[in-house]
Parts: sequence; C-alpha cells; structure tokens
Amino acid sequence: GKITIAIDGHSSTGKSTIAKRLAKTLGYIYVDTGAMYRAVSLYALNHGLIDAEGEIDVPALVQKLPQLKLRFVPNADLGISEMHLNGENVEREIRSMKVSGYVSKVAAIKEVREMLVGIQQEMGKDKGIVMDGRDIGTVVFPDAELKLFMTASPETRAARRYKELLDKGEEVTYDEVLKNVQERDRIDSTRTISPLKKAKDAIEFDNGDMGLEEQFERIYDFSQR
Ligand code: C5P
Repeated sequence: GKITIAIDGHSSTGKSTIAKRLAKTLGYIYVDTGAMYRAVSLYALNHGLIDAEGEIDVPALVQKLPQLKLRFVPNADLGISEMHLNGENVEREIRSMKVSGYVSKVAAIKEVREMLVGIQQEMGKDKGIVMDGRDIGTVVFPDAELKLFMTASPETRAARRYKELLDKGEEVTYDEVLKNVQERDRIDSTRTISPLKKAKDAIEFDNGDMGLEEQFERIYDFSQR
C-alpha cells in the first residue's frame, strides 16, 4: 500500500530534488513545505510587516494569517507544482535571497507553524505523499513509514545553492549564500517550537560526496522495503 515519506534536514541538502523524483517514480504527491513558509514570509515583506531593521510585526502577521490562501498549482509544462499566494504565482519570488533572509524568523512564529502544519497534515491524510521540510518526521507525520534526515557540510550546500541562484540570474556572492545557509540552520535548530532535529527513527543521509543517481537509488530502495 501507499506510505508516507518524510524528508527533513538542513538547508540546501538537495531534499527537494530527491523528494520530487521519488514522488514522480512512486506516483505520489510531492509537497515542499519550505515553499509555504516562504510564501508567508513574502506576504509579510510585501505588506510592510517587516521593518527596516528586520523586525517582524508578529501580532499583525498573526491577525492576517486567516486571509492567506496558499495553493500548489501544477504546471504541466515544467512538471512541477508552483506556489500561488492569494491567486498569484509567487514561485520565483519566494526563492529570492530576500525571502531566504527572513523565512527562518517567520517560521519560528508559533501561529504560523500551527496553521501550516494543519494544512500539511490535511494534504497527507490519505498517504501516498513525499513531504520535505524541517519537522515532517518529528511533528507533521511522526508515524511516517519512511523518514530521512539529509545532511552535508555547509560549504557543499552553499556551493549548490549558489549555483542554483546564479543559474536563475540572481546577483549574489558565494559568501552571502554560505552565511544565509548557516544562519538559517542556526535559527531552525535553536528555535523553541519544533526545532530542526533528526527524528529518532529517521535514517541519516549524508550526501556530501554522493552523486544524484546513487542517492536516488539508495533512497528508492528504502521506500521499497
Ligand atoms: O526548505 P526551504 O529551505 O525552502 O525552507 C525555508 C525555511 O523555511 C527553512 O530555513 C525553515 O526556516 C523553514 N521551514 C520550517 N519548517 C519546514 C519547512 C521549512 O521551519 N517544515
């Protein structure tokens, strides 16, 4: 029968690449939970809820949360789902360095997590899902049949992210990306609510010097056990 697959880990460990491919191969739904935290952050940025010092107006954001409509809309041409926020395709904007700079702060807000975790649990209630994030195996689906925890050195991860951003035409330096990756890991691992950590029953997977094919084969094998 269908199972639930939870993929957690540090920033830019290639979780989404593996998760997408696994979902496609298995005929499962793929959900990128980071995109949801990113969309809420974009909303806060676009509505003046983050000031020049980077302080978030938490009460105002919490009050607005019920008005946010988050939807994954399939793009047949690209073969992926794109994040839409209140009817607008924000897939590109949510990946910017600007959003990356605030998302971990937004993701530390209790009410934001409660809302998004609720939506995620609803999306996965029928199994047949691959979900990636930071708290999927610990909080969203603690009973998932397969849990992976992906890691690699910060330098490896930053180099991957840097290349992706350059390919998208974003003007950014490797050092900025490395700082952002390290800062997000720090905030994600030390926040009080649902900190990033490996679930006890998760398989730790260091993909620092492993090619995509080998990674995929190994992970696919886990899903068939
Ligand atoms: O996966 P991605 O790097 O796009 O996630 C962006 C940020 O969203 C993470 O750094 C983290 O702060 C937050 N996040 C989270 N819980 C999740 C997914 C993402 O806190 N399940």
